[in-house]
Amino acid sequence: MDDEQAPVGIDPTIPSVARMYDYYLGGKDNFAADRRAAEDFMAAVPNVRAVARANRDFLRKAVTEIAGRGVRQFLDIGSGLPTQENVHQVAHRVVPDAQIVYVDNDPIVMSHGRALLEDNPHTVVVQADMREPKALLDHPEILARIDFDRPVAVLLVAMLHFVPDDDAAAAIVAAIREKLAPGSHLVISHGHLGTTSTEQQTRAKNTYRPTSAGPLTPRGPAHLAAYTDGLEVLEPGIVPVQAWRPEFEGDAEVDLSKPGILGVVARVP
Ligand code: SAM
Repeated sequence: MDDEQAPVGIDPTIPSVARMYDYYLGGKDNFAADRRAAEDFMAAVPNVRAVARANRDFLRKAVTEIAGRGVRQFLDIGSGLPTQENVHQVAHRVVPDAQIVYVDNDPIVMSHGRALLEDNPHTVVVQADMREPKALLDHPEILARIDFDRPVAVLLVAMLHFVPDDDAAAAIVAAIREKLAPGSHLVISHGHLGTTSTEQQTRAKNTYRPTSAGPLTPRGPAHLAAYTDGLEVLEPGIVPVQAWRPEFEGDAEVDLSKPGILGVVARVP
């Protein structure tokens, strides 16, 4: 999109993490500043596009698995701009009347999501902020759709690395877990930078500094293990997203030295 096409109230010169991600995935809903920031990140971290696609594949596989286990409610926090194989499309293939609530804090995600879902009775988009999890979980539009006394799948896919403080990230997960009934599932994926050089890590983190979400905070397997401690972690555990139930030859390799996104799916016992 050209900057002149920016909706009223949107500053196209501030890179948005939703639109940068859209650019990684080959979408067209991004402005020049988003493309520049995304290209900077891609120069610092190789394979960003392949990793973003693998992250979407992970989301699809996780939602298919959880819907197959009979879960009928999905809360996708930080849903991003609509792309292919969004949660409602994947879940509805397995459970046609599953309730899907998308949450994001980006106004363009709101307008695109609402336009796409206008005629879908089982799916809504709600504007809320992950950094205020209690307010998010008590949001009337979410409570109108999601019954937390029954199993629900909560997705925090490529999200927690936008929370710089470790304790704050852990508190978000804790607030969500507190709300979940037995049989609920938590899906988390999280950026990590492996054993890349300090210089490369600093460059990668700083690329995100001027964005709508602030700097990137990569974390490793120990953090994901803490988020899911006490839950039943589904096979194959905490792995790079492409290695979570791999569909392509070669993806099963787990090399934590490489930058990428780690994924985990866990069930509340
Ligand atoms: N979850 C999708 C996926 O993994 O394919 C999209 C991930 S995209 C990298 C991150 C999304 O989170 C963006 O749409 C962004 O607007 C949203 N986001 C970032 N910080 C947020 C916050 N504090 N509250 C709600 N949404 C947020």
